[in-house]
Amino acid sequence: MKEIPKATAKRLPLYHRYLKMFHDMGKLRISSTELSEAVKVDSATIRRDLSYFGALGKRGYGYDIEYLLNFFSRTLSQDRLQTVALIGVGNLGNALLNYNFKKSNNVHIGAAFDINEDIVGTVHNGVPIYPMSDLQEQLDLMDIEVVIITVPENAVQKIIPDLEKAGVKGIFNFTPVRLDVSEGIHVQNVDLVNELQTLIYYINASK
Ligand code: ATP
Repeated sequence: MKEIPKATAKRLPLYHRYLKMFHDMGKLRISSTELSEAVKVDSATIRRDLSYFGALGKRGYGYDIEYLLNFFSRTLSQDRLQTVALIGVGNLGNALLNYNFKKSNNVHIGAAFDINEDIVGTVHNGVPIYPMSDLQEQLDLMDIEVVIITVPENAVQKIIPDLEKAGVKGIFNFTPVRLDVSEGIHVQNVDLVNELQTLIYYINASK
């Protein structure tokens, strides 16, 4: 298979979601025009994207939905649900637990952790909140390698050794702190305030 361009790869979950929806509705095939109307991507782009998977729609027939779904599942492991954990169930952590990536077929928060005794042992939106001392055991049990961090700034670096010990490979860091982690751990920073300020800066600069 040819290497998939990044832009194509980014659209695949979208195609996958809609194809699944059409499949669940009992539809067997779909034209690139129909798919285009559903996902709001122009049909030429769709045809090109799908051609990377060797899927060539036949004129007057369209694409076989089941074939595409199977292909996507096999090639991209889209059907494999990725369970991630959340650490720090404060305001932001709560919001993420409520949200829990409902629109995604393949990622969800399966466990949360906190030091606050008042919430440890409770279940929030179907997600149990464990004490930090259970981190390693629960991550192992649930095969979790990715954690979302929404603890206060002053607490975040201190929990990194525990995450390393628990075998965490990816950190989705919502704190503004630039984390010091050992090699092999990938950190994705999501600094909401910073992003918003950057946007405001550009708006003001263009006045
Ligand atoms: P937010 O910053 O998300 O708006 P908040 O203001 O409600 O949250 P914070 O003080 O930022 O609360 O703490 C977020 C959560 O992180 C709290 O539930 C707190 O108990 C938890 N927390 C604090 N320190 C740690 C730690 N070392 N390990 C795990 N959880 C922690």
